[in-house]
Amino acid sequence: MTCTFSYSKPPHAGPPGVGSKHSPVDKQKNGLKRPDVQSLYHQLETTAPRDSAASATPPLVSSEGIWLPPANLVEPTKTRTQVLIIGAGIAGLAAARTLINSDYDVRVLEARDRIGGRIWSSNALGVPVDVGAAWGTGTREHPVLGAAKQHGQSNDLPSIVYDQDGRRLTDAELQSLADLRQDFLAYVKQCQQRPGDSSFLDAEADFADIRKLTALQRSGLRYVNRTFIEHEWAGSLEESSLAEYDQAFHGLRDGHSGGRDQERLLAELAKDIPIQKQCEVSRIDYTKTDVDVWTTTGIFSAPYVLITMPLGVLKSEKVLFRPALPQSKRTAIAGLRMGVFNKVFVRFDRVFWDTDCDRIGLLSNSVWDWPEIIPLQDRVGEPVLMAFSAGRTALCNEAMASEDVVDSLMSSLRKMYGSEIPNPISHTVSRWHADPHSLGSYSFVPTGSVNTLRAALAAPVAGRLFFAGEATSQPFPSTVHGAYLSGVRAAFEIRSRKIAPQTSMIS
Ligand SMILES: Cc1cc2nc3c(=O)[nH]c(=O)nc-3n(C[C@H](O)[C@H](O)[C@H](O)COP(=O)(O)OP(=O)(O)OC[C@H]3O[C@@H](n4cnc5c(N)ncnc54)[C@H](O)[C@@H]3O)c2cc1C
Repeated sequence: MTCTFSYSKPPHAGPPGVGSKHSPVDKQKNGLKRPDVQSLYHQLETTAPRDSAASATPPLVSSEGIWLPPANLVEPTKTRTQVLIIGAGIAGLAAARTLINSDYDVRVLEARDRIGGRIWSSNALGVPVDVGAAWGTGTREHPVLGAAKQHGQSNDLPSIVYDQDGRRLTDAELQSLADLRQDFLAYVKQCQQRPGDSSFLDAEADFADIRKLTALQRSGLRYVNRTFIEHEWAGSLEESSLAEYDQAFHGLRDGHSGGRDQERLLAELAKDIPIQKQCEVSRIDYTKTDVDVWTTTGIFSAPYVLITMPLGVLKSEKVLFRPALPQSKRTAIAGLRMGVFNKVFVRFDRVFWDTDCDRIGLLSNSVWDWPEIIPLQDRVGEPVLMAFSAGRTALCNEAMASEDVVDSLMSSLRKMYGSEIPNPISHTVSRWHADPHSLGSYSFVPTGSVNTLRAALAAPVAGRLFFAGEATSQPFPSTVHGAYLSGVRAAFEIRSRKIAPQTSMIS
């Protein structure tokens, strides 16, 4: 089966892929193993990786409803602090730093063996590359990276775009593409005046019909929407809310910080903070004055607990709450979506691509093409390219072997630079959806939902549980600075509980 273009709605009314006779992984004409987007998407959304994670874990609650101790609980005694923070990502670290600066006794519990969460520089290629966050988005209001050196990243189209035949678009054609994007955004604004919501895919189709766009213009519009909507929201065009576009959009991608800068930033924030790594939280009991937090290394307790686990983890329900979280919180968790945005890094023995640009674009109607490729040689000092996939395509890529994902990227590169280009010497492929401590890349507002749900996600519960993290940020969701500010906000909420720092501790 050839999966040429899978943006259209499935022909049947049921969930995508249900009843499909195709196997999830089909052989393409060119030999690449590519999954059927619709059926795999359904399979991944409904089963992996949550069920597999859950089935590997022993039962947490007995048939009588009593909480059973985790099998690997090695430390039966309780460790008590004034504030427990779950998660050593930027939100947890910002909160911890704020509280420690006010003399609070704080301990951070982190499931991974490293800090930073979705900020992660990997050295797998021999040079540091940002597998998670890289750009200081909207640097004007960025509290952390405001001074990040500008590298020419902007909200404009890349200066170099190729069509499917490997022809580089002229300046006039690039200008038409930029105009088309502006026209479409004006149309989006018009649609937002009407009641109700629709998806970007529907709006794109309506706009193309109303304007009687040519085939080339249609693929140009698809290209700008994939790069500016899907790559920003991490949700596919068919599932992202049109009505909430302005509220939930984090906008400009200016100021690429680079791996080493982020590592320095994290180390500075984490300095002298007691962080318990490889300490995965499985249950939170807030029935008593002190909240008990059950982890793989023991039970911790504190009058205040700040939860910064990603939305994907909260959605998976692999962390149990007693009593269950209030309905408003559960509605917010269910109503927001965890998007998927992945990066592929490929290292070559030489540069063969255009060097006079910060991004290279490929016009395409196929979900398998890679529309946005970033040359990194000037930033990392080696011939490295970075490419993105988002939404359903990214989910499907996660079901493929890394070599097949790289082969698919090479097909796009050959369209632009010919068949003689060298093969990569090494690669790194991110899989944020499969990551058990993230279960997705960042949150977005699906069609029919609202950005204001983030306020309910952020709201404290019972005066003891507090919430932070990118998904709780109404003004700057899905970003590093939104997560950072949410941590500071939650620290102030805890401070406003008026417990005197370092006084009420009874060990
Ligand atoms: C590929 C990618 C690209 C991105 N690009 C950008 C960008 O260019 N610019 C930008 O501003 N933002 C970007 N982001 C988003 C940004 O990375 C996040 O918004 C931000 O880092 C989230 O911080 P956080 O503290 O809310 O969550 P996290 O960083 O996810 O921290 C949460 C922590 O909780 C831990 N945890 C989870 N479960 C448990 C448990 N059960 N017990 C204990 N600990 C647990 C996790 O291990 C993690 O360390 C990107 C994200 C991704 C994935």
